[in-house]
Amino acid sequence: MSPRIYLDHAATTPLHPEVWASMSDIQASGFGNPSSIHHEGRFARTLIEEARKTLARYLNASLGEVFFTSCGTESNNMILTGAVRDLGVTRILTSHIEHPCVTQTVRYLEKQYGIDVVWVPLLADGRTDTTGLHHILAREPQTRTMVSLMHVNNEVGVINDLAEIGGLCRQFNALFHTDAVQSIGFQPFDVATIPVDFVGGSAHKFYGPKGCGFVYIRAGIGIRPYLHGGSQERNMRAGTENTLGIHGMGTALAIAQREGSERNRTIAQLRKTLREALVHDVPGVTFNEAPDPWQSPKILSVNFPPSPRTDLLLMHLDIEGISASGGSACSSGAEVASPVLQYLSIPDGTKTLRFSFSPANSVEEMVQVSHVLQRLMVAP
Ligand code: PLP
Repeated sequence: MSPRIYLDHAATTPLHPEVWASMSDIQASGFGNPSSIHHEGRFARTLIEEARKTLARYLNASLGEVFFTSCGTESNNMILTGAVRDLGVTRILTSHIEHPCVTQTVRYLEKQYGIDVVWVPLLADGRTDTTGLHHILAREPQTRTMVSLMHVNNEVGVINDLAEIGGLCRQFNALFHTDAVQSIGFQPFDVATIPVDFVGGSAHKFYGPKGCGFVYIRAGIGIRPYLHGGSQERNMRAGTENTLGIHGMGTALAIAQREGSERNRTIAQLRKTLREALVHDVPGVTFNEAPDPWQSPKILSVNFPPSPRTDLLLMHLDIEGISASGGSACSSGAEVASPVLQYLSIPDGTKTLRFSFSPANSVEEMVQVSHVLQRLMVAP
């Protein structure tokens, strides 16, 4: 049986072998409770603080601005809820193509706290229409506002211009949160040059372990604890820390920093190869993407032309040993169209699949995937 081809790295990544090795190394010795003052506790504390240093270095933030969480979903929930509950935010500007952990939290806050939700217009490719954002911000400059717009979109990979969006937020005195779950580990992220107040990230998207995320909260912006009953994370998040996961996340991010541009070059080549091969092998394919430099190389979103053959295409690919996705990771297991795609300019009747890459994939795999799709879509 030939090995499987995994092209769903936007859903999750395997552990980087070095992350795996470094987590195994401390598995036995890092078990102490980081709040304990004895040797085992102090060792666990050191592992956590080393990881915090790595994150702060990556973001160009200070140590006190980085807090560990359990995942990107928790990070984004914590920030949005804290902004409404503790910072007097009464209006949130966001988009229809954010991850559900943002859109559903915003809808919850609308219902629970009566905040105004304004859906920011998008360009045809899914990036934020910054002219539209400007108009909305200018409309009610006195309203305490939070803007929540993602960095890299998880379904099509378009990149928002955070410097421009953050600049507008500063101009109108709005808080700015970005969900950077798909960008951390791939795009540089410097909070000294991007005017952002809150960032959410997640280790399992950049070859780190599942169950570990982080938030960046700009110094001087105080949101209250979200969990109670312990003084961990400087009173921000009660509960014994996930030492192993945090250590793994720090290691993964240090590797990302080391391999950064090489990693992006490799996956950009893979994306280009698959894109060109599909254009050649499957007549009528189109792509959901933004022009350079606003497209993440790790995601290729492909629209297959209307045909009865697109029914169960993902399942047929799976049977052929290829793992891709129909948009975001599907929580129900059913093959349903992503609601996000309806907000993008996608040709009617087409079937959209997402392929997302890692440097461990090969050019030969891309050619093979395209041939399989040709057989499934075109061959008599
Ligand atoms: N935000 C984006 C853009 C994502 O792609 C995801 C996961 O798919 C999340 C947030 C949620 O992250 P986590 O799986 O760590 O909760």
